Amino acid sequence: MSVKSLTMKRILVVGGGIIGSMHAYLALKAGHEVIQVERDEVPSSASVRNFGLVWVSGREKGAELELALRARELWGEIGLEASIGFRANGSLTVAQSDVEFSLMQEAAAMPDADQRGFEILHKREVQALEPMLAGNYIGALRCTTDAAVEPLLLLTGLRDFMKRSERYTWIPNFDVDSFTHNESGNHISDVTGKTISGDFLVLCPGAAHSGFLSEYFKDAQIRKVFLQMGATVPVAEKLGHSVADADSMRYYPGFKDLSLDRLPPQSELAHEHHMQLLLAPRFDGSFTIGDTHLYKEPFSHEIIEEPYEHLSKVIANIFGREFKIGKRWSGVYSQSTSSEIYFRREVAPRAVIVTGAGGRGNTLSPAIAEETIKSWAL
Ligand SMILES: Cc1cc2nc3c(=O)[nH]c(=O)nc-3n(C[C@H](O)[C@H](O)[C@H](O)COP(=O)(O)OP(=O)(O)OC[C@H]3O[C@@H](n4cnc5c(N)ncnc54)[C@H](O)[C@@H]3O)c2cc1C
Repeated sequence: MSVKSLTMKRILVVGGGIIGSMHAYLALKAGHEVIQVERDEVPSSASVRNFGLVWVSGREKGAELELALRARELWGEIGLEASIGFRANGSLTVAQSDVEFSLMQEAAAMPDADQRGFEILHKREVQALEPMLAGNYIGALRCTTDAAVEPLLLLTGLRDFMKRSERYTWIPNFDVDSFTHNESGNHISDVTGKTISGDFLVLCPGAAHSGFLSEYFKDAQIRKVFLQMGATVPVAEKLGHSVADADSMRYYPGFKDLSLDRLPPQSELAHEHHMQLLLAPRFDGSFTIGDTHLYKEPFSHEIIEEPYEHLSKVIANIFGREFKIGKRWSGVYSQSTSSEIYFRREVAPRAVIVTGAGGRGNTLSPAIAEETIKSWAL
């Protein structure tokens, strides 16, 4: 990893999600002392509720794709060091109609298709790779740069690795409710008044936009997004690739230059819930499946059943068999709505807040953290 530092500093990281953890990890690698605090006993928000996808394929051409490719490189290195379930498994976006397949052929001819690792596969080639995909479809767009991690191993795997260093301290149940800056550095305090001081501070609160942090979001172009997710009951057969349906091409900006107007309208239900199928194979033989998107707060506390019926039908068509859903949950992420790829603001000298990477936060996290740490080295 290319992040280097000349002198050891004490870095305070607030938030135990993937954005905070990647900052902690790379700051430690750069030779600093790191103290990472988390308000819960165990982090339980977006970073453990997601698909665990490192999804390069749909990233917007230009700066976003460059950041994703750098992140992908870093994931490969981190995956060799820490037990996070990283694998370069690739993805298959499956065409269930001729129009979808022709759009995928367009995607495979985009100028940056090679960088993304795109290739077109006909059904027999898909089945040679993935015998489980025995359903009714035409072919697929394979993306060899896409990868995956196990969300339930990721944060503990990174922390276990970091705990091997005497320069790393993990403090759960530390709910930061204020911070101050003076010439001796940055100081965070929790609700009981306990204070920790450091040279640099990174606030990575995810979608916690309220409390003492609310003033930084006052005029920010940022929103919260609510998603419904699920997991199928484990089966014995193994699927390697992650899988998506062509609805994902409607949503990912990487495909926005394609002639998407040739697609028929989405089903009413999929349109209403802003749905696509994403499916990530898990080590235990289950698949994480989703998702829906709700953009308007207040979000309901209820899980709605119809989206799962839609996902089950799409999965049954692609796999040629039905899978039982064993778990359902929801998640919320923070998303920048400006042209910025994510939200970063200096809140005091040597103190930044970093969030808002939206549905690409897991993918981009190591490259985002690298950008922060490089900015300190200037
Ligand atoms: C359902 C779902 C599926 C997704 N799938 C993918 C995917 O497959 N690939 C991808 O790239 N991205 C995906 N994303 C997006 C990605 O998960 C998020 O962008 C990413 O996890 C955000 O990480 P974070 O660390 O900023 O936030 P979080 O994971 O929310 O972590 C923030 C942490 O900060 C702590 N915290 C907050 N305030 C304080 C405080 N005052 N004091 C102390 N601690 C505090 C919280 O308790 C929390 O643990 C998905 C998101 C969701 C919700």
